Amino acid sequence: MASNMSQQQFENFTASTLYCEKCRATTPVREKLLLVLPDREIFDYLCAECGSSVGQREVTSGEKMMTEVMAARNLRGIPIQSIR
Ligand SMILES: [Zn+2]
Repeated sequence: MASNMSQQQFENFTASTLYCEKCRATTPVREKLLLVLPDREIFDYLCAECGSSVGQREVTSGEKMMTEVMAARNLRGIPIQSIR
């Protein structure tokens, strides 16, 4: 039972609901692209009920373009430590 719960929590994290302090409840969120930087993109999570920001997420280009980076590494032989 305990292991099932931890798995569910992980799935909840990837699902599009987050806790909103204003609503004092877990509400559906809308993911909005907030900022695009050369090496990362920042997403804003907005509560679908009240529209307030409930969280942010950074997506590095390393995550996004993993295959491209891997190809570049093969060409240049540069070790990549920041990417897991
Ligand atoms: Zn809210």
